[in-house]
Amino acid sequence: MYKRILLKLSGEQLSGKHESGFDPELGNWLANEIKQATENGTQIVIMVGGGNYVRGAQIAGHGIKRVTADHMGMLGTMMNALALTDVFEAQQVRTRCLSSIFAEQVAEPFVHRLAEKHLQNGRVVIVAGGIGRPYLTTDTAAVSLALELNCDAVIKTTKVDGVFDKDPETNDDAKKFDTLDFQHAVENPQIKVMDKAAMGLAMEQEMPVIICTLEPDGNIAKVAAGANIGTKIS
Ligand code: UDP
Repeated sequence: MYKRILLKLSGEQLSGKHESGFDPELGNWLANEIKQATENGTQIVIMVGGGNYVRGAQIAGHGIKRVTADHMGMLGTMMNALALTDVFEAQQVRTRCLSSIFAEQVAEPFVHRLAEKHLQNGRVVIVAGGIGRPYLTTDTAAVSLALELNCDAVIKTTKVDGVFDKDPETNDDAKKFDTLDFQHAVENPQIKVMDKAAMGLAMEQEMPVIICTLEPDGNIAKVAAGANIGTKIS
């Protein structure tokens, strides 16, 4: 069993059945998934993406500066984090939203000791605003935060259950890797499960990354319990 994990959820996942925005139904389901994992004794930090609202690199241009676009992206992650926090609390999952950008009126600031205290008290910590600086994604922010909070692994949930040698959605003969070494994950241009900056940091600091699906029911609890699910990159 992992003592503490960082779960990276993309904005696209949080939009669930909708085209964009936040899907509360998905949020409610997720609350139960997280509850199971915490009841088994794993502490959970969640880094939320914001791609369901804005991705900085995609909207920069035509006068919008990249830095501004990234600020907008970080605000998108904030919307997801706030919604998820409320949904979790409504489901009796004790949760705190900590923000990496200044937003005192809406969330507590991310302070290392505070995050640590919440986790030790059995609360789920949801981090908004990535790492708070532009030119980064929440994947990189996730690895950085996992290192800062001494997590045992980063769990990145994706549409397909792990890393394949080719795209499994278009190739029936695609083969899944149960384990993979960082060198391959970083060097192989076909492997796009996480951005290369995030993967590079994980490799340098030897932070294991597990790629798996969010579903079916109980999957997150199983991964947290140490089951061999998806692909473990280490
Ligand atoms: N972002 C940023 N710094 C960070 C994290 C995020 O500037 O530390 C911005 C960036 O523009 C990014 C957007 O926030 O595109 C939303 O995050 P991301 O694209 O990682 O969301 P996801 O694809 O996981 O939904």
